[in-house]
This record gives sequence, structure tokens and C-alpha cells, in this order.
Amino acid sequence: MITVRNFDELKSLPRDKVTGKIVLFNYPFDKQMAAEGRGGEAYGEAVVYRGDGPSAAARQGAVACLIRSVGGADYRLPHTGQTTYADDAPKIPAGAVTAEDADLIVDLVRQGPVKMKLTLTPQQLPDVESYNVIGDIKGSEHPEQVIIVSGHLDSWDLGTGAIDDAAGVAVSMEAANLIQKLHLKPKRTIRVIAWMNEENGLAGSKQYGKDHEKEWSNHFAAMETDGGAGHPIGINIKGKFEIKKLLAPVLAVLQESGAGGTNFAEHIGADIEPMEKAGVPAFSPIQDSRFYFNYHHTAADTLDKIVPKELAENSAVVSVLAYALANMDQPLPR
Ligand SMILES: [Zn+2]
Repeated sequence: MITVRNFDELKSLPRDKVTGKIVLFNYPFDKQMAAEGRGGEAYGEAVVYRGDGPSAAARQGAVACLIRSVGGADYRLPHTGQTTYADDAPKIPAGAVTAEDADLIVDLVRQGPVKMKLTLTPQQLPDVESYNVIGDIKGSEHPEQVIIVSGHLDSWDLGTGAIDDAAGVAVSMEAANLIQKLHLKPKRTIRVIAWMNEENGLAGSKQYGKDHEKEWSNHFAAMETDGGAGHPIGINIKGKFEIKKLLAPVLAVLQESGAGGTNFAEHIGADIEPMEKAGVPAFSPIQDSRFYFNYHHTAADTLDKIVPKELAENSAVVSVLAYALANMDQPLPR
């Protein structure tokens, strides 16, 4: 075995040091960053080793690749998630070890040669037919113009997927439910989508793109909730800066529950990315991300992690914004 901290350290090693070895990427998730409420950024920095580490190791002759689990809590829980094998490298076996075990392996390797036997059982089975679940509240004036409110249906199999992303599906369905209960009549169509296969290749999002890309100009806005159910403090926006001004009356309403803030983001949600790229303004609630990555993609992603009041706060933010977008007098700038 050999251990490296990052890609640069791996690249600095001569090929014969790596050939035939198991490589462990021991890149630590930045807990301080997550504690400051920037869990998504901390995840982004570390998750590249899960995504690209195996191919990087294989290019230098490694026979298998391990990573330090990408997550914020050290409870000896391995975290799973997607790996992308590059076309120009052998597809070597790969897995994640807990933070504690990564530390142990690093210590042992420092003391002398370490051998490890890996028993990895996952396999990629052929695709089966599956579905996005879509429901519309038809707009009363512009039914062809659509505001998407969404989360994803699938989850990794270690836990139950309560925070990733049953929460996002529940928030989106509840947004529609609240609008119905209040007998509101949105002028544009509010479309709730529970996306299929976000985690393992975005098949549902890609199919929706194939079916609807000619209608992107009629997709007024797209929202996705995929960051758990933590207390929201405002709205992430991907779009022109003028959007913030246009939403000022809505933000004033949301501020009554402490959710009137805004953040301009480069990217909002994996499933709505095709629309983001086509210029459709995109939104999500700014959720408390301090603890999300403690549980995300682990056996501990279970319903007890969700605080019902905070889940409801997210539904409130999403429904207020969705309804406001549906009834805006002017189009949003693109
Ligand atoms: Zn998710």
C-alpha cells in the first residue's frame, strides 16, 4: 500500500512506486469549513478524490484505490457515492474507508510495508426501466410556462435516504400541497418533479432534457432541494443579478421567518443542471449544511436526523418562492 494526501503528491511519485500497489487518498474533509456553514464547499473539495481518484491512481499503475470517506463526522462510518472511471485508465477496484481507518493505515504505512486484502462486492447491473414522478398544478393564465419544484427519489443503499433526498421530495410535494390547501391559483404552471437516478448517473434528468429541451424557453424557473432538511436562511440563486431586485417583495415576506437572505451560486442542483446551462434561472433554499455531510451517503441517513419543524420551514420557503415566480408580472432576465 501507499498513501498520499492529494493528486499532486500522487503525481510526484515515480510510476514504479505506485505500480502494483493499493493507493489510499487520505484527503481530509474540511470540518472547519462545514462548521462555518459551508458544508457544500467542503464536500466539493474532498469529493473529487472519490470521483476521480481511482482513475488517477490507475494511470500510475495502481491495482486498487481507497479514499478517506468524504464526510464531516468521524463515527467510523464509511461514506459511499459515485466514482467516474475515465476512458484512458484501467477500471480498478475502489472503495472508501472511515476517517479512523484512513488514519490507522497512514500510521502503519509510515512504520513499514502494509498489505491489505480487499473484498469488494458491488457490481453494476444492467439498467431497468424506471420513472421520474411528475405532477402539475396547471397555470391559470400561462399554463405553458413552468416553474419546476423538485427533489430526487433515489438514494444510496446504506441508509434510508431520509436526508438525501426524501427531504427534497417531501419539501417539493408539500409546496404543492400548501398551494392547493390555500386555494391559490398560480398563473404559471407549478411542476413538482421527483427525479429518478440522481445519484448514479442522472438518467431521469437526462430523459427530461430529451423530452423537454425544446421547451426550455417556457421553463420560467427551476428549483431543486437536495441539501437535506436543515433550517433555511434564504435562497440560492443562479441567474442574473437583477433577479434579486425583482424578488425583493418575496424576500421581505421570507425574512419574517429569517429566510430572506440570498446567495448567488454557480450551480444549484444536479438534476436541474441541464436547465441551468440553458439559462433557466435556478433556485434552492439556503439550508443549514453544518451537519448534513455527517450523515449524507452513510448508514446514518435515517429519518431521525430530520427535524420536522425545519423540514416545514424549507417547504414554506420553496412554496412562497414557487408561487411568487408563478405570479410575477414580468419574465426573469436570462
Ligand atoms: Zn442528493
